[in-house]
Amino acid sequence: AERVEKSGFQFIGPTPESIRIMGDKVSAKQAMIKAGVPCVPGSEGELPDDPVQVRRIAKSVGYPVIIKAAGGGGGRGMRVVHTEAALIHAVQTTKAEAGAAFGNPAVYMEKFLQNPRHIEIQVMADQFKNAVYLGERDCSMQRRHQKIIEEGPAPGIPRKLIDKIGERCAAACKRMGYRGAGTFEFLYENGEFYFIEMNTRVQVEHPVTELITGVDIVKTQIMVAAGEKLPFTQRQITVKGHAIECRINAEDPFNFVPSPGRITMWHAPGGPGVRVDSHVYTNYFVPPNYDSMVGKIIVYGDTRDQAIARMRTALSETLVEGISTNIPLHRELMVDAKFMSGGTNIHYLEEWIAARKR
Ligand code: ADP
Repeated sequence: AERVEKSGFQFIGPTPESIRIMGDKVSAKQAMIKAGVPCVPGSEGELPDDPVQVRRIAKSVGYPVIIKAAGGGGGRGMRVVHTEAALIHAVQTTKAEAGAAFGNPAVYMEKFLQNPRHIEIQVMADQFKNAVYLGERDCSMQRRHQKIIEEGPAPGIPRKLIDKIGERCAAACKRMGYRGAGTFEFLYENGEFYFIEMNTRVQVEHPVTELITGVDIVKTQIMVAAGEKLPFTQRQITVKGHAIECRINAEDPFNFVPSPGRITMWHAPGGPGVRVDSHVYTNYFVPPNYDSMVGKIIVYGDTRDQAIARMRTALSETLVEGISTNIPLHRELMVDAKFMSGGTNIHYLEEWIAARKR
């Protein structure tokens, strides 16, 4: 940052104020309630230390509840509680873990929704209070609260509903002076959206939006960071076709044990509507120290069916030797009847894995 400053180049990221507001989950929720964005019912802010109060809050929210770390991320620092008997122990364990993992022991409570989908809205904002939403992504295919497959548009959700929530997100950005790329994450159940958190950065799944809107999110982010105006208005944004992303992880496709090591052969797929984002090449060594993701295959089609067909072909063309990857898992999912019909909820993949036959 210092070198950038000395170079005379003015870097304009999200304002410190909006990072303060949206950077931790508790403050983000409070800001969203103020901005009129619907949230998952739960504790108003951080949970107190007093077990009596914690029990009272859980009772009024209603079981099952989920205890979440204010500073958490990547699907970590969360614990579902079904009964009062398990409550206090769960809160204490989550606090201890959150303190160790995120340096912030604060936790909060939400109602644990039974069958929601994970739907998120991509936003882009500049320093001139222009804010635009770039449609939605459905990231419901998750394992251990981590996204495995993302797609857009979300199958079966009326455009009208997306526009309504998208407008609220853009309005919230203007209200707090947000700049740059961001994502508002929601759980969607019975036709209602419930805000869970904001990601104040570019996300892994941003290519899905790039393909269906034609907007280069990374380029736009750099432009607004350099002080320029957003190069488009809301009216110029249209969603066209369908995109799907499969995250390729270095892990066993059946038991999910990480599989770091030397990649002895890497061949990426290609052809119309196929994009591969990866840093990997033949002879690359996957280190054991980081996240297991080694690449992303993203496909575009005029329709969802065409996108799925292209993904099947792309996966069958991909060759990775020397390590294990989850490509066999993706290949099975691309021919799964429920996934193919669209609209599966956040528990579907876990249930599918539990019932899977080898
Ligand atoms: P992270 O920052 O770790 O990604 P999130 O708050 O975005 O955490 O939650 C990640 C996932 O956890 C969600 O997509 C969803 O699957 C699950 N989850 C979070 N909150 C709830 C809730 N209140 N009810 C049910 N599932 C939830």
